[in-house]
Amino acid sequence: MLRVVPFEQGSASMKQRLGGKGANLAEMTKVGLPVPPGFTITTDVCRAYYAAGGQLPDGLFEETMTAMRGLEEAKGERFGDPSKPLLVSVRSGSVTSMPGMMDTILNLGLSDETVEGLARATGDARFAYDCYRRLIQMFGNVVFDLESFHFEFLLQRAKQRLGIEQDHQMTADAWSALIDEYKAVIVKHTGLSFPQQAEEQLKLAIEAVFRSWNNHRARIYRSIHHIPDEQGTAVNIQSMVFGNMGADCGTGVVFTRNPSTGENVLYGEFLMNAQGEDVVAGVRTPMPIAKLEEEQPEVYKQLVSAAMKLERHYRDMQDIEFTVEKGKLYLLQTRNGKRTAQAAVQLAVVFVKEGTITKEEAIQRIEPFHLDQLLHRAIDPASRPDVLAAGLPASPGAATGQAVFDADTAEAWSRAGKKVILVRSETTPEDIHGVLAAEGVLTSRGGMTSHAAVVARGMGKPCVCGCEPIRLRDRAFEVAAADKVTATIAEGEWISIDGATGRVIRGVVQLREPEMTAELEELLGWADDIRRLQVYTNADTPEDAVKARGFGAEGIGLCRTEHMFMSPDRMPVVRGMILADTPEERASALAQLLPMQQGDFEGIFRAMEGLPVTIRLLDPPLHEFLPNVEELAVQHAQMMLQQAADSAERQQVEKLLRKVRSLHEMNPMLGTRGCRLGLIHPEIYEMQVEAIFRAALQCLNEQIDVRPDIMIPLVGHAAELKLMRELVDRVAAEVLGEQQHALHYRVGTMIEVPRAAITAGSIANHADFFSFGTNDLTQMTLGYSRDDAEGKFLSHYVESKLLPSNPFQVLDREGVGMLIRWAAEQGKAVKPQLKTGVCGEHGGDKESIFFCHAEGLDYVSCSPYRVPLARIAAAQAALALGDAPPVRPAEPVQSA
Ligand code: PEP
Ligand code: MG
Repeated sequence: MLRVVPFEQGSASMKQRLGGKGANLAEMTKVGLPVPPGFTITTDVCRAYYAAGGQLPDGLFEETMTAMRGLEEAKGERFGDPSKPLLVSVRSGSVTSMPGMMDTILNLGLSDETVEGLARATGDARFAYDCYRRLIQMFGNVVFDLESFHFEFLLQRAKQRLGIEQDHQMTADAWSALIDEYKAVIVKHTGLSFPQQAEEQLKLAIEAVFRSWNNHRARIYRSIHHIPDEQGTAVNIQSMVFGNMGADCGTGVVFTRNPSTGENVLYGEFLMNAQGEDVVAGVRTPMPIAKLEEEQPEVYKQLVSAAMKLERHYRDMQDIEFTVEKGKLYLLQTRNGKRTAQAAVQLAVVFVKEGTITKEEAIQRIEPFHLDQLLHRAIDPASRPDVLAAGLPASPGAATGQAVFDADTAEAWSRAGKKVILVRSETTPEDIHGVLAAEGVLTSRGGMTSHAAVVARGMGKPCVCGCEPIRLRDRAFEVAAADKVTATIAEGEWISIDGATGRVIRGVVQLREPEMTAELEELLGWADDIRRLQVYTNADTPEDAVKARGFGAEGIGLCRTEHMFMSPDRMPVVRGMILADTPEERASALAQLLPMQQGDFEGIFRAMEGLPVTIRLLDPPLHEFLPNVEELAVQHAQMMLQQAADSAERQQVEKLLRKVRSLHEMNPMLGTRGCRLGLIHPEIYEMQVEAIFRAALQCLNEQIDVRPDIMIPLVGHAAELKLMRELVDRVAAEVLGEQQHALHYRVGTMIEVPRAAITAGSIANHADFFSFGTNDLTQMTLGYSRDDAEGKFLSHYVESKLLPSNPFQVLDREGVGMLIRWAAEQGKAVKPQLKTGVCGEHGGDKESIFFCHAEGLDYVSCSPYRVPLARIAAAQAALALGDAPPVRPAEPVQSA
């Protein structure tokens, strides 16, 4: 087991054991950049610590102290020595970056005695006490689990008493008095006193950092980002440099390019005379990095050159933490910078053009789900929003929701189906569940690299930070201009934020749909050259079809025709059809629906000219088109009380109620729906098929290339498909007549009932294509109601790791996946030309797309906005897995 590694002995390739931060500090040391000396305790030790039930391995601490001796030599100082005390930072460092989720302690090694030594050595007592009070607070927080507000409160009170506003106005005596109060707080709440021995501090700090791997927020972050629990964190121990020693000192964060847009400018912020976490914590609003050039041109030059060197070295945009101590630059961390989707795309393309990376690498660098963010909405430029204030544009996208002021309320309201915007003075890692639940985040303090900004960008949520005109009050915020309150927004009031411009807006605003950028088009073009899977879309209207085609859809994989029955003007006709007493009445209602549907299909065919359009015949149970039975019963009872017995209106309601009750089913998802409906009421499917072929004929006459594929839902038995196919072919012949040879159409089926998958060989005899309806197939294979499971037990299953993920989002490969594999193989054995694809929600999920590629399916179909994501994911699958062969036909097994 590798346990303790000095920076000069590590390298970037040891990231699994040194964590990201440790590996990069080692790498920076190796390439000669100014990094304060330090060492890393590996993730192996973290795993051993947990395996031993929370115990450091034998001898580990002695090894740590040996490494400390190395630091003492390098610095000419001694740990715990009052005459020349060595101070160190103790920081977590996971393999996968988890910003702000785990703990850090700075200035370790200070005690009542050594603080005096530091004061003497630096000739600056104010500085020494400032460091000491920071240590006690961080230590109290991290090791003793005391909430920060205990300390913040005392600091605020001290400043109030002294009539000052800023921390740097605190004198040495004021800090010293506060230190006594801080120590007393620890004793009061824990019964323990702040340890005065440097070695004891170090041991407790190391253990606390290991413990922080398992704190609540880190566990949530890991589950959102699929980071394995066994990865563990490393601990980095590094000698301190000080950004808070005076006006020629400071600390900051820079990105080598703008992480919001990808623009090639040094981007970041710094605070003069500040230490450590002040910048990211968002407590003071920092200055833009360009100001450093004015204040300390020499340091700025060094910083620019180090930043460029690091970007070239890592071949990616870097996020760098630095400190300036008495005019000298030190680098404390570098990592690949988190970026918005827009910047990710921009940078991937630019790095290819600069010759830094290949097209393949560019595609692999895109996180497909981030493209969802890129295709986020913006505020319609034509709208005239009531702008209350402006802050920093920290994460793009616009959002509207009800204002809430704490993370728990955000979570609770969102669970209750409300849209919320989380408004905080600044966010801390404890707020992560609120950020997750919110549509967007607004903070009154903190910069573009503050916690709120980083976390929101990572999650693809809109965020406005550092909006100073707003002031938080009790469950409300005020907006102030020139010290006058111009507006007050209470909890629950609607607001909107625009993360692209920083605007904060009163009320709900009109949002505009997103567009593709030239860089994204280019990247998608490269992906298209690589991928094997085709990408279709699920679209029910001509508008959606146009949008999806713009995003690169190569066909429609699922057009759900029920939506064509649901518009307000059609509902009365549809109800008339369902309630018809005689075949004639029903035929007349269907005759009214036919031209409406025909018009819909013509629109879709025109939009998808030259591409396949898969139209699914009616699927849901008929009661879905009728009013709710309970509401009807109430209405009926009220009429009974108020109206004469034979009122025509009441008779109407009675008839409706009878019909609704007669259609009622205990398990409608397993009831009269899909092809069962088509078999019981062939006239409905006949009308739909007639409408499809009339529309096709009309388009043919207009010289439009139409390619209809007709799809039968919920087939479980070959006999069902056989009959339905006969119906389609018969109606096609009737409508097309002479023109039949001019139109090529296909008839296929959804495979969404387990029996259909198992007997796919027989079913394939009657199908030209299989489209796996993985929503129903998941529901029926796992026996989880798709309407209930997610709100009931499924989150518990996922949280307690009974399931690796929600099977309605990420395909269950072991179960549902095996049915797909079997069905595709059996189908192809009978009919080698059989086309196969997935049209459930999984068609827009990266992992599921990888599965479809590996299994050799022909296409995936997903909602229009996910088409770009699917194109990238399909290319990534081809790059990661090689060009999987098309489905290999198996020995056919045919049932009756
Ligand atoms: C499916 O079941 O996967 C499917 C696409 O159909 P629907 O969601 O309409 O039931
Ligand atoms: Mg279905």
